[in-house]
Amino acid sequence: MKKCLICDSLIEPFVSFGRMPIANGFLQADQFQEEYFFELAAGFCPECTMVQLIEQPEPQKMFHENYAFYSSTSTRMAAHFQELAGRVKDSYMKSKDPFVVEIGSNDGITLRHFAAAGFRHLGVEPSANVAEAARKKGVQTVCQFFDENVAREILGAHGPADVFLGANVMCHISTLHSVVAGIKLLLKPEGVLIFEDPYLGDIIQKTSYDQIYDEHAFYFSLRSLTFLFERHGMEVIDVMPQDVHGGSMRYTVGRKGAHDIAGSVELLRERENALGLHDPATYHRLRENIERSRDELMNLLGKLKKQGSRVAGYGATSKSTTVINYCGITPELVEFIGDTTPIKQGKFSPGMHIPVRPYADFENNHPNFALLFAWNHVAEIMEKERQFLANGGRWIVYVPRVEIL
Ligand SMILES: [Zn+2]
Repeated sequence: MKKCLICDSLIEPFVSFGRMPIANGFLQADQFQEEYFFELAAGFCPECTMVQLIEQPEPQKMFHENYAFYSSTSTRMAAHFQELAGRVKDSYMKSKDPFVVEIGSNDGITLRHFAAAGFRHLGVEPSANVAEAARKKGVQTVCQFFDENVAREILGAHGPADVFLGANVMCHISTLHSVVAGIKLLLKPEGVLIFEDPYLGDIIQKTSYDQIYDEHAFYFSLRSLTFLFERHGMEVIDVMPQDVHGGSMRYTVGRKGAHDIAGSVELLRERENALGLHDPATYHRLRENIERSRDELMNLLGKLKKQGSRVAGYGATSKSTTVINYCGITPELVEFIGDTTPIKQGKFSPGMHIPVRPYADFENNHPNFALLFAWNHVAEIMEKERQFLANGGRWIVYVPRVEIL
């Protein structure tokens, strides 16, 4: 039995997706032989309610110099982080010569707004290639995994921080206690931590099980985070749902008693009670919904294949890896995945080895059906791809349910 990474109690596994490759491990044909697999399974801690992976690949297998995800390639994400930067500057950067630190700062998508406005800032990014991309934009970045020791170094070199940011990174870190201790050490007494991650409530309500993959060690709720921060003398002071990444939550956290607590926190607490996030039965229901979703998707793809329809994937996303491998979607069912990211083109999807081709291959030779792996951008994509629909093409989505749009 595996112990909870937050409270050391025994966790209860509730779903296994079987043998799984690294979600972002797009690879070349000559790398098929050495591809790395692990068992992807999730569990629930009955004590602190944290949902987490049972087995975690080593971080070095996931975030390396060839890490393919550049935040700024999505215009919607760029707009999202511009809004975040503006809000932080207006509300929390009020001291004399304020200082903002961000972990997992990627290619500087958020910090560049602080750099441009002349604020003291520092990004901490473990992937060398994206850290270099940030530096080229004038964003000060160190290439490291953040922990208590790194926090101490930053404190010594720059002094305490007004704001600590983390977007889609806290849930990646299995050594969360060390990170939170480091954040507390680095923050001024009235400083705040603002972070956002995929929200467990959305995963349960939408059966968006593709959020579950190697990089996400944790699936946060207000309830489980309250337990975590309590141990560090901190508390959640505000929450704000976000519709990026298919349902995220932005949490603002401060030292206990240092800030007023927004009404949104109590409202979310009530929503989580109603959803049953504390109840093991909720997770068994989630597993049943996941199995049903898989069966429906495979029935549909099998039927289309029999009809002789051409199906292509749209968007070689990290989260598609869970769906493709768990369901068993082969290149016979989905002939290729069209993607605009140059680093992925010409490679193959992890595990099932579906070819990833330039977006132009989709545009110039529309399939009959496009399986939308980037379903969280459905509105934006359907708007952009009106010609595909006009040519008789149809979209297949699987969140919140399997259907043809
Ligand atoms: Zn626990």
